[in-house]
Amino acid sequence: MSPTNTGQDAPLLEVTGLCKKFGTHEVLRGIDLSVDRGKVLVLIGPSGSGKTTVLRSINGLETPEVGVVTAAGGIRVDYAAKPAKKDILALRDRTAMVFQHYNLFPHMTVLENIIEGPVQVKGVRKAQAISEAEALLERVGMAEKRDVYPFQLSGGQAQRVGIVRALALKPDLLLFDEPTSALDPELVGDVLVVMKELADEGWTMLVVTHELAFARQVADEVLFMDEGVIIERGAPRQMFSAPREERTKQFLHRVL
Ligand code: ADP
Repeated sequence: MSPTNTGQDAPLLEVTGLCKKFGTHEVLRGIDLSVDRGKVLVLIGPSGSGKTTVLRSINGLETPEVGVVTAAGGIRVDYAAKPAKKDILALRDRTAMVFQHYNLFPHMTVLENIIEGPVQVKGVRKAQAISEAEALLERVGMAEKRDVYPFQLSGGQAQRVGIVRALALKPDLLLFDEPTSALDPELVGDVLVVMKELADEGWTMLVVTHELAFARQVADEVLFMDEGVIIERGAPRQMFSAPREERTKQFLHRVL
């Protein structure tokens, strides 16, 4: 289930000048970031600083007023130029999101949740989608839950299904939006273990999380965001032990 490495050197995904308002509230004020193939970026920052909106803009779930997102395969979405729907769909096709509240379809079994995207959106044959889904479920220790409904799962199990559902789409980039923050503390570890394994396997990941121990252990780069701006970025060791910016220091002081 490892991603293929095509050996390209250009960033897998690049975001420049992303600006987004909700009404008069400027939520993103010129976000630049790039994600190299096989790397894990962790985005941290106070609640309301715009982290989720960055992920949703990359996934085409929000429409920023300004900003360009480019991705491998010649995908380019220039939000200021009113991009064509097909370009936004192409971007969404290469990225897959894992949501804080799992967002599983309640009326579908675990297996049906996982094969829905591959079969309906990607045109994969049902038999093939099922066998791939079963292999992924096995991989995260959830094989025996294939025919149950989401309400029969614990939060940790539901989130592992959420991750499998994203993997089944075979994206270039996995986007994680606070994947453990809705979980009871004792269930957080199971999900983080799966995420760490994915990072070790070479998946490219952009992760919004408050789990700073995870960031310290797994991130190649940490970005600190506040009030719609990326204030500071760096290797986890530097960011957590010697942050340069006052706002980063204050934030880390509060949460560490
Ligand atoms: P974070 O992920 O850092 O907590 P968000 O990206 O979720 O931040 O939100 C940033 C700001 O944008 C917050 O003030 C939030 O209330 C606001 N916001 C997010 N989504 C919407 C929306 N759909 N409509 C209006 N305001 C929104």
